[in-house]
Amino acid sequence: MEQTKFLLSEREIPERWYNVVADLPFALNPPLNPETREPVGPEALAPIFPEAIVLQEVSTERYIPIPEEVRGVYALWRPTPLYRARRLERALDTPAHIYYKYEGVSPTGSHKPNTAVPQAYYNREEGVRRLTTETGAGQWGSSLAFACRVMGLECTVYMVRVSYDQKPYRRIMMETYGSEVFPSPTDRTRAGRKVLEEHPDSPGSLGIAISEAVEDAATSEDAKYSLGSVLNHVLLHQTVIGQEAIRQMELSGEYPDVVVGCVGGGSNFGGIALPFVRENLLNGRNTRFVAVEPTACPTLTRGRYTYDFGDTAGTTPLMKMHTLGHTFVPPGIHAGGLRYHGEAPLISALVEHGLIEARAYPQNATFEAGVRFARAEGILPAPEVAHAIKAVIDLAQEAREAGEQKVILFNLCGHGHFDLAAYEQYLAGRLEDYEYPEEEIDRSLAGL
Ligand SMILES: *Cc1c(COP(=O)(O)O)cnc(C)c1O
Repeated sequence: MEQTKFLLSEREIPERWYNVVADLPFALNPPLNPETREPVGPEALAPIFPEAIVLQEVSTERYIPIPEEVRGVYALWRPTPLYRARRLERALDTPAHIYYKYEGVSPTGSHKPNTAVPQAYYNREEGVRRLTTETGAGQWGSSLAFACRVMGLECTVYMVRVSYDQKPYRRIMMETYGSEVFPSPTDRTRAGRKVLEEHPDSPGSLGIAISEAVEDAATSEDAKYSLGSVLNHVLLHQTVIGQEAIRQMELSGEYPDVVVGCVGGGSNFGGIALPFVRENLLNGRNTRFVAVEPTACPTLTRGRYTYDFGDTAGTTPLMKMHTLGHTFVPPGIHAGGLRYHGEAPLISALVEHGLIEARAYPQNATFEAGVRFARAEGILPAPEVAHAIKAVIDLAQEAREAGEQKVILFNLCGHGHFDLAAYEQYLAGRLEDYEYPEEEIDRSLAGL
């Protein structure tokens, strides 16, 4: 029988996270204070994050040890399996070898608990009692809700209104873990009230929900804030994915020519890609990296690389990243996890320096790819992941036309079991494609 699954034992859960900052051949642009335009130090983050997280955010150490208690929780689902997609290869009639790392085996069905668990751990260690956060499609909120329950913390989630309405099951999951969940914009915060005054029917956005969650934490004694993507420490925690994948690719006897992932804020992509980026930088490897986003929220492919706020209300430090403007409200596509106006500064810098490529696809093409994958491999991917799969299928076809035998690895970072309503609409031919008009992007960027 041909081998399709490459497994590691529990003892092989990584013992440390990998920090690519230590190996970058260029300096990162520091976050800036919006008023003075001077670089902000770690102290600017102290009101909303615990010290251990702040230190990781600014760390230049190459490796950071994973606490044993966190590894013990990781053991509930890690190491995750690596598969060779032999049935998809045959369905595509491609000479390419396609591998995927499957993060959907976590308790909440995505890669997000990889960072939720250590974040809840460090907060509890420093005496924090409650975490606040935002969530788009609900994957992050349910992951933090799970992590808070495991670490004995309370959890308050601001959920983007359009997802709250479209995806009640994620809310119920968060409430089952014991969290409180509010549809954002709410009237509980100044930031939320301001949006509601101008747009009473606002569908919400991750940027607005972030403003609300940050304000809640900053104005509460015993609460801190937790972010599920974008920041350096989140990408750091996600590197367990790529470190395991390197070991598992060794078991397969192959090495990826291309690594592919979908990008919202950049954490699952960074998680699988950054350990392989290190192999390019230090060990003479020559892997291509392809980050895939929706045409409805084309941050890397059509945004501007500049300083912008991480949230809509303009309360965060300014970060140098690809952005569509912090007031950009993307249309309500089903890949809710990819509806963020900005991008992880680390991923943006790597794109800017030519180490990572970006592509964008409209949602019908991605669902077509997702259905094709489900019919070949059995796993029903999250709509976000379907973007990566569309790129993988295109790359496999490009390789076939070029007569090349490529090894492609992608991150199947979550299953789509909570997204069946979106699949239903696709199967019924009722999904709309959305190309963001240039004028809208210009208008939003003009505000910077
Ligand atoms: C949250 C999420 C994303 C987008 O976030 P990243 O930080 O870019 O990874 C993509 N896919 C899934 C399944 C998610 O849960």
